[in-house]
Amino acid sequence: MMPPTFTLLKTATRSRARAGILHTLHGDIPTPVFMPVGTQATVKSLTTDHLRTLNVPIILSNTYHLALRPGTDLIAELGGLHHFMNWDRPILTDSGGFQVFSLAKIRKIKPEGVMFHSHLDGSKHLFTPESVIDHQRNLGSDIMMPLDICTPHPATHAQTAHDLDITLQWAAQAKNHWEPDPRNQLLFGIVQGGIYPDLREKSATALQTIDFPGYAIGGVSVGESKAAVEAQIRHTAPLLPDDKPKYVMGLGEPENLKFAIDEGIDMFDCVLPTRLARHGHAFTATGRLNIKNATHTRDPQGLDPTCSCGVCTTYSRAYLRHLFMAKEMLGPTLLSLHNIHFLIQYVTQIRTQILEGTR
Ligand SMILES: [Zn+2]
Repeated sequence: MMPPTFTLLKTATRSRARAGILHTLHGDIPTPVFMPVGTQATVKSLTTDHLRTLNVPIILSNTYHLALRPGTDLIAELGGLHHFMNWDRPILTDSGGFQVFSLAKIRKIKPEGVMFHSHLDGSKHLFTPESVIDHQRNLGSDIMMPLDICTPHPATHAQTAHDLDITLQWAAQAKNHWEPDPRNQLLFGIVQGGIYPDLREKSATALQTIDFPGYAIGGVSVGESKAAVEAQIRHTAPLLPDDKPKYVMGLGEPENLKFAIDEGIDMFDCVLPTRLARHGHAFTATGRLNIKNATHTRDPQGLDPTCSCGVCTTYSRAYLRHLFMAKEMLGPTLLSLHNIHFLIQYVTQIRTQILEGTR
């Protein structure tokens, strides 16, 4: 019998927002939580000491990329992903399904899984619901995700329903493969169904019959409008059980996080803070800032004057702009530090409001 995954501490007075604690083998995670993405077993340009300094409680890594290179067998041989990348806090690994459908050159869905050609060297691979669990066992992640089909947008109802049926079959197989040997790893179910409310309902109901320790909403923010993203979250979040963690995959815009938290979502991940940073963009309390703009050439103030992070309290916009103009490696590192700090603080403040009863 596994201990409970999630402790619900408090629900907000004016919205469905929740504050809780997600329990994993490598530690407790206060929720709501934003999880920075370390696709290749590294949150780009940052060390794990940086992540600890930023109070990052959990990171996400990617099964597709690590399975292709360097291989999950190699990572297992070297002590698992935590040891391999020097990170002793929780890790969530996604299933690789999203990357198979977005990156792989050629792919073919078969009843047993998905056959695809690597985007790296064209080599042929088969992901099955079982092999994807095995890859994540090799990695030793705290939270695993099952193989799913992330239906592209736009897609017809018929196509989405067809993909969903396969995804639900794969979810049941993943659960059956995981359950006899859970190894303190959690397995979440992923609600698919695209923009179609009836399919989201079917998916949420079927997954709860299979029964997972937590639930994710997938296939959101894959090219549809902001209104469609919000409609899917508003519709799907209440279909999931309140005593389990609820996770929307792939959201990183502060406004989207706020919306989803108020609909009762607990977990988020996105490459956005580090990707923006590499292009010289920073989140600030007053919106996005492009450090490469000439207006910052002689600006002595910090990136975001209201931010308490080590970058904003130390370096001027003029210096940060200079780093980007000179294409220095430190530029993306410093902006990544700030952007991740910004999102971590953003959700932490909302969590405090929930706990204090002011939200
Ligand atoms: Zn800052």
